[in-house]
Amino acid sequence: MRLSTITNWAYGATVLLTLASGATMLMASGAEERERAAVAQRQQFDQLTASLEEDVYRLTEQARGYVVTGDPSHLVAYRREREDERSVEQRIAHLKDGGASIAELSALRQALHWADALNDEQEAALAAARKGDDRTARTILFGDEYGRELDRVGAQIAKFQYMLDQRTDQAVARGTETTRQWRTVSEIMLGITALLFLCVLYFVLKQRILRPVVRLSDVVTRLAAQDFAAIPPDFPQVDEIGDMAQAIRIFRENGLERQRLEQERDTDRTMRDLLSRLTQRLQGCANVDDLADVVARFAPEIAPDYPGRLYIHDNRRNAMAQACEWLSPELSRAEFPPSACWALRRGQTHRPAGEMIDIACEHLGDAGARLSTVCIPLAAQGDSIGLLYFEEPAEGSADGRERTGKYLEILAENIGLALANLRLRDELRDMAMVDALTGLPNRRQFDAMLQTLVADVEGTIAPLACLMVDIDHFKRFNDSFGHDAGDAVLRAVGAVLGESLREAGHAFRLGGEEFVVLMPGFDLDQAFNRAGQVQQRIRDLRVQHSGRELGPVTASFGLAAFPEHGRADRLLATADAALLRAKAEGRDRILVATVRDSDSAAA
Ligand code: GH3
Ligand code: MG
Ligand code: MG
Repeated sequence: MRLSTITNWAYGATVLLTLASGATMLMASGAEERERAAVAQRQQFDQLTASLEEDVYRLTEQARGYVVTGDPSHLVAYRREREDERSVEQRIAHLKDGGASIAELSALRQALHWADALNDEQEAALAAARKGDDRTARTILFGDEYGRELDRVGAQIAKFQYMLDQRTDQAVARGTETTRQWRTVSEIMLGITALLFLCVLYFVLKQRILRPVVRLSDVVTRLAAQDFAAIPPDFPQVDEIGDMAQAIRIFRENGLERQRLEQERDTDRTMRDLLSRLTQRLQGCANVDDLADVVARFAPEIAPDYPGRLYIHDNRRNAMAQACEWLSPELSRAEFPPSACWALRRGQTHRPAGEMIDIACEHLGDAGARLSTVCIPLAAQGDSIGLLYFEEPAEGSADGRERTGKYLEILAENIGLALANLRLRDELRDMAMVDALTGLPNRRQFDAMLQTLVADVEGTIAPLACLMVDIDHFKRFNDSFGHDAGDAVLRAVGAVLGESLREAGHAFRLGGEEFVVLMPGFDLDQAFNRAGQVQQRIRDLRVQHSGRELGPVTASFGLAAFPEHGRADRLLATADAALLRAKAEGRDRILVATVRDSDSAAA
């Protein structure tokens, strides 16, 4: 049953009970009225009977006074009293009107008849007295008979009064009892009404006000503590409680929205911090391995549910090779040609799964369409230098994916930039360390290498050989065939040195047409043999330029070795001195340093 029906019924019952209670009060009041009327009637009858008895005695007194004294004033008074006296019927009728019963009236009528008989005797006594017969008059009025009749009238009046008292007492008792009963009924009804009213009040207060208010208060307390799991109850009624519930619902929705925005802002800030730290670390990377370590550490933090791989383009093999991976991705091969990825082909992020129908990349294998994947190309100056590959989680909101997608794009941009910087730095370093004409390491690298080797061999007995090479009469090539022809000779000699010493030592171009070879682990004999081979290969060179044979090429060699020729750090100067001697002795020869050479180098 609906709450409103129950309360309506209860209200109806309360009203009915109140009306009934009012009616019983009226009944009780009616009974009281009757009781009061009975008492008033007795008073009236008492007065009547009292005056009747008094009249009888007063008339007797006046008649006796006249008879005894002969004073006519007694006679006058007697006559006046008799005139005032109403007839028996009149008195009876008056009492009848007053509600006296028939038995009471007949008792009273008897008393009145006896009173009239007394009056007749009084008249007879007065008449005798007037005639002077005092004796007869006295006998009548003072005789025993007159006294008995007087007493009889008094007794009859007392009887009437007794009957009257009996009836009145009964009426009063009945009235009192009825009043008491009605009053009790009325009080019980009032009690029930009050109880019902209180029950209804309690029920309404509890169901309609207290309980909803307690529930709303509980929800408000939880909401105030930022517990937005608290759901406000639905109170559809149109009253203050309904308004409050509605207001709390709006408050909760606002709170939820604010919390969502704050979370987004916090996540965004955290992400930006992470990305900024990632950028800093990437800038500090010395090589691709460092970069791979940084990416493997940061990528799972930026996109915690996105397993993935970083690929770097290997120029030599034209392949995308995996540099690192995180969170155990399921798909995508460790190496594949750039053409196997649609992101690399198009130079754009590629998402084969999702709302837009698209083709899966070949490098994902046959199960490519099984997962939702993202490929983001890493580009530098239009070239694809790498690829970031991710596997999206199956669950997650579209909003979350979009936001993470943006972070991944920023991540890819940063990694791409860092990778491009590394490549540029490598190229610049190569340019700074490698001789552009011959491809051999230059003087700078030679100095660094010599320093390292010297540090390695000094204090040990490990041998180290140094061979200086200078092309004989090189200037003539320039002069005879032009500078480009001279360059061709330099390239050819550089190639001989590079190839013949690939495993056995390190060849450098020192500058102009001078080269040097460092052979760690080679003793003097071994180095001399190797120098002989190089000499022969140079002799065998047939350099052509612009379709013309440039003629034979020879070179002079100065060889010095540690520990035979003194300190390791002076090997170059010692070898150079031996080379000078080779030039001086006629060129196209290998001269091993002597003690003088090392001395002159030391000087
Ligand atoms: P020697 O047998 O005494 O060594 O005589 P040489 O002509 O080889 O030596 P010299 O020092 O007289 O001449 C070296 C020349 O090499 C001078 C310079 O113009 C030339 N040269 C230096 N660097 C280059 C270069 O990179 N390319 C060309 N084509 N010529 C160069
Ligand atoms: Mg020279
Ligand atoms: Mg020369």
